[in-house]
Parts: sequence; structure tokens; C-alpha cells
Amino acid sequence: MITRTVPLVQVPAVDDWRIQLKQAYRTPAALLDALGLPATLMADAGQGHALFSTRVPEAYARRMRPGDPNDPLLRQVLPTGRETEQVAGFTQDPLEEAEHTPAPGIIHKYHGRVLFIVSGACAVNCRYCFRRHFPYGEHTLSQAQWDESLEYLRRDASLREVILSGGDPLIAPDNYLDALIDKLERIPHLTRLRVHTRLPVVIPDRVTEQLLKVLTSSRLKPVMVLHINHANEIDDAMAHACQRLRAAGVTLLNQSVLLEGVNDTVDALEALSERLFEVDVRPYYLHVLDKVDGAAHFHVSDARAHELMDALQARLPGFLVPTLAREEPNRPNKTRL
Ligand SMILES: *Cc1c(COP(=O)(O)O)cnc(C)c1O
Ligand code: SF4
Repeated sequence: MITRTVPLVQVPAVDDWRIQLKQAYRTPAALLDALGLPATLMADAGQGHALFSTRVPEAYARRMRPGDPNDPLLRQVLPTGRETEQVAGFTQDPLEEAEHTPAPGIIHKYHGRVLFIVSGACAVNCRYCFRRHFPYGEHTLSQAQWDESLEYLRRDASLREVILSGGDPLIAPDNYLDALIDKLERIPHLTRLRVHTRLPVVIPDRVTEQLLKVLTSSRLKPVMVLHINHANEIDDAMAHACQRLRAAGVTLLNQSVLLEGVNDTVDALEALSERLFEVDVRPYYLHVLDKVDGAAHFHVSDARAHELMDALQARLPGFLVPTLAREEPNRPNKTRL
């Protein structure tokens, strides 16, 4: 009898994720068509698309329920006419980050850690994101631009952690990240490397063998903070990507945004925490929405957020309850609510 050898782990081809990125749905019509939804939802979608373009990888769309216009994943990424609404209190730059940029691509607001904005681009355009008003440019920082930023990090001995952020830092190719981490590793006071990313969620094949090497072969302790808002975002491919990251020694955390019509029920939040734990990811933050123009239809009131947290705490062990937080200008840390 012939036994077929089945590989224990399926390793994605090196550049497959870049092809998937190129082939992402880029119009509401293409996305709706793939889900078997009527084009009548489209005139409305076009208005939002004109403000902030559509971008949805097929690997993410695959997890949506066909024919369901209220799917919680679809709602996060399908443009709508409601994005044109002007609502009091919602602005273009709610975080006032421009004031905390001491060197190119560096945002330094909190003690001991800085954000290093590797790329302005993302693999998916989430409709609630504050980035919708800052396309930042699709390019990554050049290595010449790094020099000034690295010099800033070298000079501040209070820094312990660099957080690769964006946009999405994993838009950068593995060899680019490798060269950057190599420079960071030489700064003696740094001890941790954190990556804030949604890319492995929307394209699990982004977790290449080389990425695992790049993240785990420096002396810096690697932490990855994923961005998952709903349990349905964790399919088998995503679970497998998490398993490989964990096996390589990467600590996995998750941050979510509390979004009306997506995860604003205790059942949805409970299912998310349970599912995260199944794939070895710890819930970290649950952010209330940044009050950014065009995202008001996702807003959940603070009163409702507190109610949900109380109910969640009554259902889950403490380590599966994320911290409800808000990013506010001119505070020494995120505000815990
Ligand atoms: C969120 C954020 C951090 C990280 O904060 P933690 O509480 O350590 O997760 C760091 N810098 C900036 C500017 C941030 O917005
Ligand atoms: S920064 Fe994060 S939330 Fe914003 S569009 Fe990119 S992936 Fe989505």
C-alpha cells in the first residue's frame, strides 16, 4: 500500500501574499458580486468609495456569509453613503498625532515606547479607521529616512520598545523588515519589538517562513498585536497562521474596536474572546471608536460600552476580558474606561 506523505504544516509560497494583495477587490461592485448581493446596494456604496477607496482581499471576503448584507465582516469594509454624514464631535484628526512626530515616521507619546510608522498602506481599508483621512502615501520609509529616526531612538535611553505600525507594517517585504530589525537590535536599551498589524488576519499567507525568522532571530522579544473584531474573522487559515507564530515564539495579543452592528453585543464579544483563546491569542484592548469623520454610524455610546463590559466580565474569566480603552490627545497612556 502506498501512503501519501502529507506535509504537517502548509507553508505559503514566498510571494503569494503579494499576489493576493494585488488581486484584492477594489470596488464595491466586485465585492458585492462575489457575495451574490444585489447591485442595488451599490449607488450608496459608491459615495463612501469616492471618499476612501475599497480594498478587501479575497481571503477575507471568503469568511463572509454569501447573500447577507448585514454580515459583520462585510459591514467593516463595504463603503456606504452614510460616510458622507457630518456629525458633531467627529473630526478629521481626532488623535492630534502630528504634534508627536520628532523624526520621520516616529510617533512618541508614551514613556518607553514609540510607534515606528513603516508604511501608510494597508491590505484592507476598514471603513471606521482614522487613517481614511491620511493616506500617508503608499510607500514605505526609505532606508535614508531611517537614519534620522534611528538616531532619535539611539539618543533616548528611556526607550524599551519599538512598535512597528502604520498603516500596516507587514505591507513591507520581509527583507525590508529584516534590515530594519537588524538596525533596531543594535540599539542596546531596546528590549522588545512589537508589531501592530491586521495583515495576517486578512491574508493569513502573509505569515511566511521568512517573516517568522525575521521576527524571532533578533535578541528583541517579539510581540504581535493583531486586530480582529469578530470571531468569524478567525477561520482555519487564520488559526493556522496563529499556530505558526506561537510555535516560533511570538507573543500574540489582540486589539478590537467596538463597532455598532459588528461586535456590540455581549454574545459577539464573548465569542470573540473564546475564539481568540482557542488560537492562542490574548485579548488586549477593546477600543472605543476614534471620532473620525465618516465613521459616526459605527459609534457605540460610552454607557453602552460599560454595560457590555459589565456583562462580559460576568461571563468570562478575567484573562479573557479585554481592557476598554480610548486614545486621547495629551495623555501619558491610553485612557482605561
Ligand atoms: C497605542 C499606542 C502605543 C502603545 O500603547 P500600549 O498601551 O503600550 O499598548 C504607543 N504609542 C502610541 C502613540 C499609541 O497610540
Ligand atoms: S490601519 Fe488598521 S484599521 Fe485602519 S485601515 Fe489599516 S488595517 Fe484597517
